[in-house]
Amino acid sequence: MIDMRSDTVTTPSRAMRQAMARAKVGDDVYGEDPTVRELEEETAARLGKASALFLPSGTMANQAAVLAHTRPGDELWAHEASHVVDGEQGGVAVLAGVQLRTFQARRGELTVGKLSPWLRDPTDVHNTRPRLLWLENTIARTGGVVLPERTAGLAHFAHRHGLMVHIDGSRLWNASVASGYSESELAAPADSLSVCFSKGLGAPVGSALAGDEQFVARARRARKLLGGGMRQAGVIAAAALYAMRHNVDRLEDDHLRARRVAEVLAELPWCRLNPSDVETNMVFANVVGRRSRAIAAQLASLGVACDVVNSGTLRFVTHLDIGSPDLERVLLALRAVR
Ligand SMILES: *Cc1c(COP(=O)(O)O)cnc(C)c1O
Repeated sequence: MIDMRSDTVTTPSRAMRQAMARAKVGDDVYGEDPTVRELEEETAARLGKASALFLPSGTMANQAAVLAHTRPGDELWAHEASHVVDGEQGGVAVLAGVQLRTFQARRGELTVGKLSPWLRDPTDVHNTRPRLLWLENTIARTGGVVLPERTAGLAHFAHRHGLMVHIDGSRLWNASVASGYSESELAAPADSLSVCFSKGLGAPVGSALAGDEQFVARARRARKLLGGGMRQAGVIAAAALYAMRHNVDRLEDDHLRARRVAEVLAELPWCRLNPSDVETNMVFANVVGRRSRAIAAQLASLGVACDVVNSGTLRFVTHLDIGSPDLERVLLALRAVR
């Protein structure tokens, strides 16, 4: 089976496993794991931030970031399809006591014009405190869209009105490769951000948060609260380091392959999509007649797994375990569907 459901299905390569086996370790709850420290320092430097923190998952990174930035009753502003809004069981309400203010926007791209009507008079006792503007790059649920260049304008607006800015950068590496901006250029407008090592980069586990020293100290406390204090985590940090050093530039291949999938899909009668909407490694295909489950079943019988987003949408994701021969088989299977 060629598995295109997600870029999380990759398995660690032999070289990555060797790096894991060789890792120097210590107890990271005491701050004594040299490989975790090396990963945190290298991640912070790469993102142009003072400090970074290794966490077991992107969800924990998001929840720790919210805990680090907010007090109960604060408001978090985000696009309605953001992972923090739509993929974490309402964790910000459960764990941080934070209220969400969600926004609609085509392809997830927020604008100052959408946000500004919700600025409130802080002297009016009815009003919540807008505290955190939450952006995603790439924007996952709308198809791996690269956050547009207006991020700096959004951040400037937020800062002027007392909101901090966080970027959920689970696929920031994809955004960097696709846009030509370095990770630190993409991170610069934000006070804090996350990155993920276990999606496009192919590590088995791990995310990181980055920001200034005070933010990271608060996030470290929140990580412990959430049960994310880890002991000899150098074993997994070594995989993340390997992934960050070796698997970023090759994301370009994933993007080219996703574009080919989109071009073939666009020619098929059962599918509607615009290939130029595909900016990175995810292809969202609108299925004519809401037959997505039936089409996915046919594809499975032809050896290709994809994700059924809903009755009218399928998702195909390219990743480092899908090479050129796999891609040709996928394209044949797509053309064979009736
Ligand atoms: C996958 C994802 C997460 C959550 O990461 P996990 O490691 O699955 O917990 C958060 N945000 C975005 C944008 C994601 O794509």
